[in-house]
Amino acid sequence: MDHMMDTTSDQQDHATSTPSTTFGSLTFTGDVMLRRLDPGVFKKLKETMHQGLPLDPAIANTVAAAMKDWAIENGCTHYCHWFQPLTGTTAEKHDAFLQPDAEGNALTKFSGEQLIRGEPDASSFPSGGIRETFEARGYTAWDATSPAFILTTGDHATLCIPTAFVSWTGEALDKKTPLLRSIDAINTQAMRLLRIFGSDEDISRVITTIGSEQEYFLVDEDFVRQRPDLLICGRTLLGADAPKGHQLDDHYFGAIHERVLAYMAEVEERLQELGVPIKTRHNEVAPGQYELAPTFENANLATDHQMLMMHVMRMTAEHHGLTCLLHEKPFAGINGSGKHNNWSIATDTGINLLDPRDEAHSNMEFLVFLCAIIRAVDLHADLLRASIANAGNDHRLGANEAPPAIISIYLGDMLNDILTQIASDESKGSIDGGTLDFGATTMPQISRHSSDRNRTSPFAFTGNKFEFRAVGSSDSIAWPNTVLNTIIAESLDWFATRLETPEAKADLEVSVRTVLKEVIAAHRRVIFDGDNYAQAWHDEAEQRGLPNLRTTADALPVFSDDRSFELFERYAILNHRELEARIEVLHEQYATVNCIEARTMHGMIATQVLPAAIRFQGELARTVTATSTAGVDSPGTNDLLRTLAGHIGTLHEAAAALAEAEAENSEDGRAMAMAVRDRIAPAMQAAREAVDTIERIMPDDLWPFPTYSEMLFIR
Ligand code: ADP
Ligand code: MG
Repeated sequence: MDHMMDTTSDQQDHATSTPSTTFGSLTFTGDVMLRRLDPGVFKKLKETMHQGLPLDPAIANTVAAAMKDWAIENGCTHYCHWFQPLTGTTAEKHDAFLQPDAEGNALTKFSGEQLIRGEPDASSFPSGGIRETFEARGYTAWDATSPAFILTTGDHATLCIPTAFVSWTGEALDKKTPLLRSIDAINTQAMRLLRIFGSDEDISRVITTIGSEQEYFLVDEDFVRQRPDLLICGRTLLGADAPKGHQLDDHYFGAIHERVLAYMAEVEERLQELGVPIKTRHNEVAPGQYELAPTFENANLATDHQMLMMHVMRMTAEHHGLTCLLHEKPFAGINGSGKHNNWSIATDTGINLLDPRDEAHSNMEFLVFLCAIIRAVDLHADLLRASIANAGNDHRLGANEAPPAIISIYLGDMLNDILTQIASDESKGSIDGGTLDFGATTMPQISRHSSDRNRTSPFAFTGNKFEFRAVGSSDSIAWPNTVLNTIIAESLDWFATRLETPEAKADLEVSVRTVLKEVIAAHRRVIFDGDNYAQAWHDEAEQRGLPNLRTTADALPVFSDDRSFELFERYAILNHRELEARIEVLHEQYATVNCIEARTMHGMIATQVLPAAIRFQGELARTVTATSTAGVDSPGTNDLLRTLAGHIGTLHEAAAALAEAEAENSEDGRAMAMAVRDRIAPAMQAAREAVDTIERIMPDDLWPFPTYSEMLFIR
């Protein structure tokens, strides 16, 4: 037995210690690498991973061989390059490890070349025209900074290698590549600032950190099977509200139901194996709504892990006879779901640059980073809004609960007070022995006793990070963070350029104060600590000149401004064609999703709702005749028949209008997006109202769908 132990030690470990309790046991990192690679190779690969360096081709074969052995011992027969095309989901094309040799024997083979580069026949992925103009080929390239992992579906295990997806000219065809570039841009600009403050010692890199809280609904899968809208679109297109929503607030943080808890526990266990650290779980505001929050990680890893999280959540639900709905608004009239994107900026030595510290010097640095973000969000509120625009989020933003489509920042009293002091020159802190003390005595309280909470703000400072709450629950966080990083890099650049001149450095404290004052005066309008849901805010925001881009069709054109092309090009995030491609794809997706929904809705009305209502009408008509023949007066029934017939008439008209709107067809994505906003969405709204009115008076046994009450309260 001994020799077996030697050759398959990992497998033995795997079998004897329960893998589910080992953190990241299905990822090729840490211990696994240490055991399987010789020290020199291990060290090189670690450096590659931590510093984001390109992989030394000399070690690629060794790493590939070790990875293959580990994967096969863990039951893998195939590997795939796992990537994030512009569809917003993940893609994988599986290749077998087994290859025939000249004699026809099966060999397992996985070379460094296969690890580093793949060439999926991915011509069907949206490229927004990039590949048509050149060549249909797209390449995947290993992102060594994100560990490979083993994904098990049913009985099948596959080695997944996180990759970037680019055209042969190097243009980004995916969501990861621009994100990586934007992380680099932040690093470059933030390092300049740290150098100005002389705090760059020991620091070789600045990274962004993300912890993305995921909201979701769970519904029994039997209900989903009976509802074409949930099955096809992931949201209910029809449905009268339940008598009880979240008026009582009894679901939020309530005791978790046994079946749901079993689901959550399995999700967490599987994610833990995949190295995704999960921190909290709880019931959310709406009935049937929950939340899962990971521990934050560097932005690239957090984004990969977010995609994995959604995958595992969906898959695991099936084991429990449930469906996990990640849509932004699965049910009308009750809370929608978001992805609260907690974002901060940190050094590779572990300092969170948005964590206010006690010393006047670091406070100065903190205030520069803070005000750079305020400036960025005000200057580019429209871009930030556009970065989270999609068909699903249109139903959430601006509805009376989610953050509105107006982007503003919540800061809290303490920081607002400090900004006021700087702006008015009436500082409680004073220039003291050449050191500016920006009211340092109040600063520590911000980080340590932050009790301020504003759940209505789309972009809230929460003590040591910003929480971008407007991101949709089904969305990949890659694009919103790419945009966020880009606009912030631009502001850091602006600050650094102002502060790194010899004159500015001669009296840095005074220069900082001057620049901060200027920024506060120009951009304070974006700060709003009140109730973002209130109509009063919408009016005030308009007076302040803040953009309110209500729908995706309104928001997406922002990307087409010369200003946007210039910005993305200046920081080498996206060249002209790469941005043009994304604009194209975003419009197309918005239009396509809405058209599918319109068609689904029309089908449900024509083949299920109207037939059921007409059947009930017939039943009522026969009853009225029979009752009157029997000589009994039944005015209530007569009225009901008349009312129902009226509603059916309205629905016939609404359905016809919907069919007409839905027949709208244009090759031009932008024209289609406008058609969605101006014709398809209003037609769907009118049809829905007609259906929901009928549902309220239909007999339960004739109604063809599970109701809101059933879906939200039966677990
Ligand atoms: P809350 O009170 O909003 O739940 P938490 O501290 O629990 O605040 O954090 C919520 C989310 O924010 C978690 O996913 C967490 O990992 C993340 N988070 C915490 N600190 C940071 C940070 N420095 N950068 C990015 N995300 C962070
Ligand atoms: Mg939160």
